[in-house]
Amino acid sequence: MGAYADFHRRSIENRESFWTEEARRIHWHRPFDQVLDFSKPPFAKWFVGGQTNLCYNAIDRHLDARSDQTALVYISTETDTERRYSYRELHAAVNACAAVIQAQGVGRGDRVLIYMPMIPEAAFAMLACARLGAVHSVVFGGFAAASCATRIDDAKPKLLITADAGLRGGKAIHYKPLVDEAVSLSKHPPEKVLVINRGIDKDFSMVPGRDVDYAEALRQHGSTPVPVTWLESSEPSYILYTSGTTGKPKGVQRDTGGYAVALASSMEHIYCGKPGEAMFTTSDVGWVVGHSYIVYGPLIHGMTTILYEGLPIRPDAGIWWKIVQEQKVTVMFSSPTAARVLKKQDPAYLKKYNLSSLRHLFLAGEPLDEPTHRWIHDAIGKPVIDHYWQTETGWPILSLAPGIEKAKVKYGSPGFPVYGYDLKLLRESDATEAAPGEKGVLTIAPPLPPGCMTTVWGDDERFVNTYFRTFPKLMLYSTFDWGVRDAEGYTFILGRTDDVINVAGHRIGTREIEEAVQSHANIAEVAVVGVADSLKGQMPLAFAVVKDASKLDTEAGRKSQEKEIMDAVDHQLGAIARPQRVLFVNSLPKTRSGKLLRRSLQALAEGRDPGDLTTIEDPAALEQIRGVLKG
Ligand code: ATP
Ligand code: MG
Repeated sequence: MGAYADFHRRSIENRESFWTEEARRIHWHRPFDQVLDFSKPPFAKWFVGGQTNLCYNAIDRHLDARSDQTALVYISTETDTERRYSYRELHAAVNACAAVIQAQGVGRGDRVLIYMPMIPEAAFAMLACARLGAVHSVVFGGFAAASCATRIDDAKPKLLITADAGLRGGKAIHYKPLVDEAVSLSKHPPEKVLVINRGIDKDFSMVPGRDVDYAEALRQHGSTPVPVTWLESSEPSYILYTSGTTGKPKGVQRDTGGYAVALASSMEHIYCGKPGEAMFTTSDVGWVVGHSYIVYGPLIHGMTTILYEGLPIRPDAGIWWKIVQEQKVTVMFSSPTAARVLKKQDPAYLKKYNLSSLRHLFLAGEPLDEPTHRWIHDAIGKPVIDHYWQTETGWPILSLAPGIEKAKVKYGSPGFPVYGYDLKLLRESDATEAAPGEKGVLTIAPPLPPGCMTTVWGDDERFVNTYFRTFPKLMLYSTFDWGVRDAEGYTFILGRTDDVINVAGHRIGTREIEEAVQSHANIAEVAVVGVADSLKGQMPLAFAVVKDASKLDTEAGRKSQEKEIMDAVDHQLGAIARPQRVLFVNSLPKTRSGKLLRRSLQALAEGRDPGDLTTIEDPAALEQIRGVLKG
């Protein structure tokens, strides 16, 4: 990996010249005076003095060369709709939306909370905020009223944008009443609520004086041209709260110029997309992946982005691949969870469509176990690139960068440190560098590269105290994830630093045990948690979903599967890591972004309250867990 190693080295050793070159990928209204201001570590300001705008880079800049090219395709299997917007049409739609938002008194620096289903208006609203220099805070549509209210109180938006309802598997989710409740719970309610009426909910109510009907506002203000507001590079573009897997969500604040440069650069070096081609990211605009790679990244790069409203297996498990074929997708981005869902379906669906346009499939968000990585790779016959990042970073930390060098894929590894990131894998005991094969905490030496969070919204101190205090003497950003590097420099993620089970003084990552369980041929999915044990401190407990459930039909069959799984763990990690029990379930409790609710599982197993479960994908999963724990 000579070429990539050189590229990475340059990004760290000649930081300023490296990023000056990358910064040419975007339009600057005014050139920057200084590449990096790192005078107040760990705070980094990129491209100081430069003026730019995310919306201009995503849309206006392309109008000369590609005004008739499709910019956005909205595909909904919920409403059976497909709508295409050329760059010209997208420009008009975003301008109109910006005019409506502006008419509500929103301007530069004001916050706008967006609580929306996966409809084009969600993207219009984000881009319109960017156009005005307003700071959007997209809250995943599906969070309960209370979660929405805490985010309102933190961001204090002037305006909230929502729709009457979302749809999931054919069922309506009524957003508007939920927003009404959130607003009434909040201490800093927004002055206005803009409602996009899709006509799904026939009888929601509008609050006079506060609520504004979008269609009506469009008729009134939509034709007013809205010029781009040029922002200084470090001015905030948006706030996005982390998933909250490990506690109170943090309001990640992102800048403008650094983010645009990081995305533009990643589109070329990592995702290998070409302007004019189509990118399909199966996430939601409510998550960071949706911000970076449904909305901003592909558009900044002049690609066609696909916004999909629907489930991955409805009408059948072939739907995503049908989209790849029909839209000639070259870059696809999904999650390990989705891959595991597909693994449980008939593999014929993956062979039914012509995937020849597709160059790579990228996956992120959760550990991708080796068997699933191998399976999806074989099933689609295309390179599947696992890459690792966080809401905080906004773009990948670990990945292969096929645009620089085609390194081989190693199953189970997200590859190498991405350029710009000075990664250190440190021993927890004394903060020295871990040797190859030795587990360490994955940290980043600041400055964090362009695109990463610049602070916690409204709380600089929390930014420093949360992320930079793991090793008191060193000011290093902690990812709070364990990693291990092999002799060739491939990094493997071993799970979160607080997901460690302490069995009689031996510290074992849950991910390590999960990998061992996954090696059993009949396992589709597994979650391992540590459960308090009076003798040993903690004991691992495994919850497993099998591929062939007929093997569990009899008590004897169940016992023999459990025994085989325990043997597999003994064999790979030693008896110390052997789960106390393996409990078989039909599905695991996950958030709608596909993150395993490991903390809730652990709480249930220890007889405690499972906590905030508002974004749970399938409440039945939890009920079954309660059942098997009793049984
Ligand atoms: P919170 O920080 O609020 O607890 P969260 O960490 O779940 O929430 P995200 O920022 O969405 O919120 O998730 C980032 C985390 O997801 C990473 O720190 C890592 O633990 C996990 N992750 C993401 N991608 C990968 C990957 N490719 N392999 C392994 N783990 C991954
Ligand atoms: Mg996190």
